[in-house]
Amino acid sequence: MIKTEKVLHLKSSRGRKVRVVREHYLREHVPCYSSLCQAQCANEGKVLSGEVTHYVMPDAGVARDFMEILEFREIQGIVFTQTACQAVQHSRGRRQYNRLRSLLKDPRHHCILFANEFQEYSYCPREKGEPQDKWQTRCVYHAAVWYHDHLAGLKPVVMITEDQTAVAEYSSLNCGVYVLCTQEYLQTFWPELQAALELYCSIAQSLQEKGSEGTEREYTEHLPAEILEAGIKSGRYIQGTLNVNKHRAQHEAFVRFEGSSNKSSELNSDVLVCGGKNRNRAVHGDMVAVELLPKGEWRGRTTALTEGQGEEKGDETQSQPMATGRVVGILQRNWRDYVVTFPPKEETQSQSRNSQRILATPWDQRIPKIRISTQQADKLQDHRVIVRLDSWDSTSLYPNGHSVRVLGRAGELETEVQTILIENCIHVPPFSEAQLGEMPVSSPESPWSVDPAEVITRRDLRQTHLVFSVDPRGCEDVDDTLSIRSLPPGPRGERLELGVHIADVTHFVKEGSLTDLEARARATTYYLADRRYDMLPAVLSADLCSLLGGVDRYAMSVMWDLDAQTLAVNKVWYGRTLIQSSYQLYYELAQALLNGEEAEVPELARLPPEERDAKLAQLTQALETLTHVLRAQRDKGGALELEGVEVRAQLDEDRNITALVPRQPLEVHETVAECMIYANHWVARKIQESFPQQALLRHHPPPRQEFFNQLQDSARARGFTIDTRSNKALADSLDRAVAPGPSACPVRAQYYHSGLALDRYTHFTSPIRRYADMIVHRLLTAAIAMEKGAGPAKALASNKELEEVAQQINNKNRAAQHAQKVSTELFQCLYFRDKDPETDERCVADAVIYTIRANGMLVFIPQYGLKGAVYLKNREGQVVSERQDGGCDWQTGSLQRYLDHITTTTAVGTSTFNLFQHITVRISVQPSRCHSDTIRLEVVSNRPHQAPETQVQTTQPQGARGRSQLVQEVVRQAEASQQAEEKRGRASKLSTEEREFRQSKCPNLYSLLEEVRELALLDLAAYCGAFHGLNQHADRLSGLTILLYILGVITMVTRLYLGTSLVLFGK
Ligand SMILES: [Zn+2]
Repeated sequence: MIKTEKVLHLKSSRGRKVRVVREHYLREHVPCYSSLCQAQCANEGKVLSGEVTHYVMPDAGVARDFMEILEFREIQGIVFTQTACQAVQHSRGRRQYNRLRSLLKDPRHHCILFANEFQEYSYCPREKGEPQDKWQTRCVYHAAVWYHDHLAGLKPVVMITEDQTAVAEYSSLNCGVYVLCTQEYLQTFWPELQAALELYCSIAQSLQEKGSEGTEREYTEHLPAEILEAGIKSGRYIQGTLNVNKHRAQHEAFVRFEGSSNKSSELNSDVLVCGGKNRNRAVHGDMVAVELLPKGEWRGRTTALTEGQGEEKGDETQSQPMATGRVVGILQRNWRDYVVTFPPKEETQSQSRNSQRILATPWDQRIPKIRISTQQADKLQDHRVIVRLDSWDSTSLYPNGHSVRVLGRAGELETEVQTILIENCIHVPPFSEAQLGEMPVSSPESPWSVDPAEVITRRDLRQTHLVFSVDPRGCEDVDDTLSIRSLPPGPRGERLELGVHIADVTHFVKEGSLTDLEARARATTYYLADRRYDMLPAVLSADLCSLLGGVDRYAMSVMWDLDAQTLAVNKVWYGRTLIQSSYQLYYELAQALLNGEEAEVPELARLPPEERDAKLAQLTQALETLTHVLRAQRDKGGALELEGVEVRAQLDEDRNITALVPRQPLEVHETVAECMIYANHWVARKIQESFPQQALLRHHPPPRQEFFNQLQDSARARGFTIDTRSNKALADSLDRAVAPGPSACPVRAQYYHSGLALDRYTHFTSPIRRYADMIVHRLLTAAIAMEKGAGPAKALASNKELEEVAQQINNKNRAAQHAQKVSTELFQCLYFRDKDPETDERCVADAVIYTIRANGMLVFIPQYGLKGAVYLKNREGQVVSERQDGGCDWQTGSLQRYLDHITTTTAVGTSTFNLFQHITVRISVQPSRCHSDTIRLEVVSNRPHQAPETQVQTTQPQGARGRSQLVQEVVRQAEASQQAEEKRGRASKLSTEEREFRQSKCPNLYSLLEEVRELALLDLAAYCGAFHGLNQHADRLSGLTILLYILGVITMVTRLYLGTSLVLFGK
């Protein structure tokens, strides 16, 4: 080893230049991490493949400014030198450096780090007077030459640089080592990767323009990191995440502080940040430090519904003044990719010809306009484009960015769906060849079959257990199956065995494999209104891990040995099994069998009658036992979920309501759900016993009080008291409120709560669709192995790692929920976009008022499963007023809000709108050029909508079906217009490409709703759909109805706002 000295010229965080002398050690052996190594380097871990045409070595400047290009997965065989990495670290900060590090760590990217400055023969000391960038380029060139020689010339090495003199100087020095500038490199080696070249041009342009900025200061300088840190410690500044109010994006933002960082005891809420100057270049999502303003300058948040984007000066209501502050520094930027729309021609024409600096408007209203240099401003009008932010200096009114990729024409279905994915950071490219290469083969020519070696290690249930699945009709991915049978009597009497068998996904997906990493990155399957993006390749999700009927499948099983009388659990068995499902039932069929109705079981159709009857009896018996077991568990007080409340109206022949019945649509539905909850609970117990520190559990946060306050008030106004402090208290008070009701009431309401009986809960039953379940499967496998005496095969993930994964999963689940919601809204807008609200009767619908606001109310439209705001006051100060015939007009007047109703008063008279009242609304679309279109609702009449005669009313949830038709019609339209485009021969190439991303074309709405339910995001459709039949009878709504309504709304609110998240237990 050789010791030498290395002189570094660094920049301190305050911008001062510092000269540092460091001892520097050189070694002869530094691993090259290439599979072509001829010198027995200690190449452990990630190694570069020899199967690329060349290796590429970016110099420091390229690594610093063009790393986004090197992130393209197509570009393989990248050698990052230590010189280049250090340049990124020193000049681009921690965020960019971390990005580079994760690139190096990720096995899906074919790149490695070569520590050239520790290599005795590739290191070159800096010469006196040599500029840093020249020296760095020389270092990288020497590294390239060494690398090429080290591999005995087996692979050409291409160095890329932006320094033209370096190209001239080095390119002809060594044969086998090429020096090119980045653009030439991309054109020569990756001509088909057009996107990379476009991105290169965009970044190069933005770098060029950067020099020519003004010097006038628009914002206060940010404080240096040390001062911010000290200030946060002392309590002078508050640290938190900036949240911009979407409806008042320019003016109102809040800083949600992180609990521990808040030293100021009087603060118990968010800090309000008013206006752009106080926000001081912080972007929605950034971690910032704020300083509080003097109390005299504190302001309140806006409470009124804001109509459109316009200003409503003097008309807005402010709440109590709250802590108000200004941003003094940015602790961490959390910038992502943003979708923007370029300005219309008129606005760009004044600019210069070749390169235009334009202000692009982000789709997300919370993000400020972004300044971009581009030559395509005219061409890309009306297109959606992805951009990234580069910088925001105090001299610039807007942040600077560059464009990355064009998504397509705004307003087209594919463009808008891609926009939703990008905006929610959902990245779902088709699975790569390398990932698919890890998958087992299963095709008609060579069908997959069980491995005899594997069979020995598993418990074989194929002959001994009647296994079946119950799913929504048409379900493709069956990830859970059930079994129930009698066991020989034990010492304490009769015994039953209940089994839940889940697809053994982790048998096929090994931890750390490429497929595993992809699944972890996705974290979940994404369900949009018209399509889904799977977490796992189709060979698993639709085939080998789908527990279809009549084929052998590997499963992960939990089996309970139960006392047939008391249903007490004698013992539980967990383990890997081999199953063959006999029946693939759907809910309606299973329920029909239970009810003793005539039903055709497809699996039995071809059997001779006698055999069929015997098998049918056996199956029915199994279903009955299963239902009996779970019903008994419920009645024992093993209450499970608050979600079990739904109301159905019973009608007589004249369609009058005779009763309101709370119940599940099908009991078998509930039974299956409860089996899964049961399995999740027992697996949680098992892994928590084995790994008290590492168990990944599902956490239902307690209800957030503020969301319930209004409902509480509403209930109080109607004569009920509701305790919402916990789910238990909530259920109890609802019980009490029912008790003194009319004694003839035939209804016994049941309220379930996951926390009453099942204190521990985890994700186990959907490993095809959720990565959390895959982690749990691995933990369970390790727990079983430990029990058998084997130590865990490999060290389990640390708490920190698990916490990171849990955080990632929670983020992705939120993204999935949000994307689903936004895509539903997109379809609603596309559906109504071309309909004339004045003449098309589909634009007029019945709506239920579910929340009262200061200048209007929120309503739900069962027919379309649509929620939205209805304004009773407009910008001209007019209010909605009811005419004699029930219709409504705008009149000059005033508005008064009460707990459970809102009234408008005009010269004509007073109109009242009550909570839970049915009204008639007109639906129209408010188009937006840069953002998503929005649905607008106006009151047509404050009476229920008189539906046309043809519309048959049923007690089935109509929201679901109405929406499915809506989605189908929009898809049909989009395809028709696409075909028309193709006919005219000018179909955009881009959208064809994007279309390949679609993995499932036919929507399965039932499975969609199932998933929504799982995600705890169910909208009101299922609840209010049942109420649709009531709309003619609004006056008959009794106290009970209102109570049940409230309950439905509470459940809805709970689901919308709380969701579920993962926590690490035992910390
Ligand atoms: Zn080597």
